[in-house]
Amino acid sequence: MKIYVDQTRCQGHSRCYMLAPDLFEIDDYGQSTEKINVHLPSELEEDARLAAENCPEFAIVIIE
Ligand code: SF4
Repeated sequence: MKIYVDQTRCQGHSRCYMLAPDLFEIDDYGQSTEKINVHLPSELEEDARLAAENCPEFAIVIIE
């Protein structure tokens, strides 16, 4: 699994960072980017799904 944050959709709520700080980093405006842009370790996949499901802007893209 890989993930990335669609910057055209992200509105800077920081919800993803609160749920999965190992996967996302936020700037001073709360805008998120993915920390890992290669295949995720399997133990982080559940957090990735949780973050994607809770992003109100559907900005977190999961590639299986
Ligand atoms: S929850 Fe979604 S919209 Fe909010 S910062 Fe994270 S990726 Fe961006």
